[in-house]
Order: sequence, then structure tokens, then C-alpha cells
Amino acid sequence: SRRILEIRDLKTYFGRGANEVRSVDGVSLHVDAGETLGVVGESGCGKSVTSLSVMRLVPSPGRYAHGEILFEGRDILGLGAAEMRRLRGDRLSMIFQEPMTSLNPVRTVGDQIAEAFRLHRGLSRKEAAARAVDMLRQVGIPAPERRADEFPHQLSGGMRQRVMIAIALSCHPRLLIADEPTTALDVTIQAQILDLLRKLKAELGMAIMLITHDLGVVAEMCDRVVVMYAGRVVEEARVTDLFDAPAHPYTEGLLASIPKLDEAVDELFAIEGQVPSPTERPPGCPFEPRCRYAFDRCRRETPELRELDGGRRAACFLAADRLARPGAFS
Ligand code: SF4
Ligand code: MG
Repeated sequence: SRRILEIRDLKTYFGRGANEVRSVDGVSLHVDAGETLGVVGESGCGKSVTSLSVMRLVPSPGRYAHGEILFEGRDILGLGAAEMRRLRGDRLSMIFQEPMTSLNPVRTVGDQIAEAFRLHRGLSRKEAAARAVDMLRQVGIPAPERRADEFPHQLSGGMRQRVMIAIALSCHPRLLIADEPTTALDVTIQAQILDLLRKLKAELGMAIMLITHDLGVVAEMCDRVVVMYAGRVVEEARVTDLFDAPAHPYTEGLLASIPKLDEAVDELFAIEGQVPSPTERPPGCPFEPRCRYAFDRCRRETPELRELDGGRRAACFLAADRLARPGAFS
């Protein structure tokens, strides 16, 4: 299958010298045409900065210190601002957790969707307005003609997320980046939005890079998954393989902390300890302070992301052993 996105050894840093924050610290991953890749990890692991890097929307004083981001074979880190604007919202789109902050509060939702058609497809005001109503219908908004004339604050949170999706998908992107698209919504609405994304993905044939801290969402939506920790990828696998047997102890911890049906768990990650601060990462394996399997070598050496059997990858000295002898590590 064809590669839509390939990130190679990306490093996105903020600040300099003693204040340097290495939010993304050597990330490599890819997304194939038509697939859904999940990117999981606790907050502060670099997921959002990775996705903002792909959009070239990392806020100042962030900088792309190293690496390549190949989108349809072209390194977008080398594109000019005008080329990047042409790409964004057309071949490459993104939706965020909180639509209220990305929608314009003083423009009607119809106008905001129409803008994409005017900008990227050169449609007239009238044609674009008609297409905007079509899009509202396609994302399941009832009475779309009337809704098109409303402002974001007149809509519910779920409706606003549908509007964001309508804007993002209006030009049929090859890749949609969705950063925690349902986190701010209640459970019923969450399920409806995920259903909608699945349906539109099937209709449009796009690929999705889905950023989430929720492995339940990954199980439901994704083909493959990348687990991030402390600005790096620590595991990559097909979703079924990952749930069968996590190669990395951090993944094991994430899986163990999925809330069970009859247990009230509001703290999603029951792994003890915290993600190391990006200004003071310890030497050795970044997960060592929290790892129940840590041994001497883990304190001295940083494990690299290595290929394992079955096309999986993991950054742990024990990963190959853990997969070969699952009973030995529990
Ligand atoms: Fe744990 Fe060592 Fe593996 Fe790091 S390399 S995850 S500390 S066992
Ligand atoms: Mg985030």
C-alpha cells in the first residue's frame, strides 16, 4: 500500500539552552493510504506536537530541529507558507478536541464551511454556500439549510464537532489528523462522532491519524497503533497484535489501566509515577523510573526502536523476549 505520510526522526523543540523542551524527540512513523493509525500515550508524550508538526502549525517558539515529514512524497518542512496554506484543508486536514476554539465565533457555520470551497476550489459564493449545506447534511446535521445560518455558540458541542469535520473533509483530504476529537464530548455523542468518522472514511477513502489517550477508541477505530512516551515512539504494532501481547512495558501499563465496565475509573492511567519532564529526561530508558521490569542496563543505555517479528517495533531491551516468552513477564 502507498505511503501517504512518513515522518523520519522528527525533533520538534521549544526554547533553547537550559530551557530547551524536547517535545518531540526523534519520532518516526508512517500512515498508509486508507488506513487509520492510532497514536496513543499520556498527555505530555508529544502526540499533539507531532500532529501540529505535520500541519506545520507548531506555535512559536517551537522549531523543527531535525528530521523530515514526507506527505505524498514531499517534505513539508521544506514548503513555503503559501504552499502549506494550499495543502491545509485540501489534501491534508485536521480536527481538534475543542471546536469552539477553532471555529470563528462571529461567522455562521455555513460561511466557515463555504470558505474551504472558495479557497481551494475557487467556487463562487453561491456555489460554495450550496456545497456547505450539502456538507452539513453529510455530517448528519438536521435541517442543514437553517443550521448553515447559525453561529457556533448556537450549536451543541457534538454539532460543533460535526461542523469541524465538515470543514476538514469538504475538499476530500487524503489524510485527516484527528487530535482527541471526542475527548470533550459525553459518551453517547462520542460514539456518534466516531461512527460518523468511520462512515466518512469509508465513503471518501482517506487515511486517518487519530491521536488519543483512549485505547478503547483505538480498539474500535484503528488498524495500526503507535505508542508514544516522552517524545518518542516506544511501540508500533497492528492493533490486534498490540492487544494480544504488548511488547513494551509502557503499553502493558496502558492496557492494564483501561477502565472495566463495572469499575468507576476516572484516572485513565493507573501506571505509577509521571512522564519525565521534557527538560530533564533521565539517562537510559525514559520509562525506567516507572518500569517494573527495569534492570541495570536500562539505567545506562537508551533502547532504540527495533524491528521485531511480525513487522512490529518496540524500544525496550526485553521486547523480543517478552513476545517470545509471554508467561515469563507477568
Ligand atoms: Fe523497562 Fe528496561 Fe524495557 Fe525500559 S528498556 S521499558 S526500563 S525493561
Ligand atoms: Mg494533546
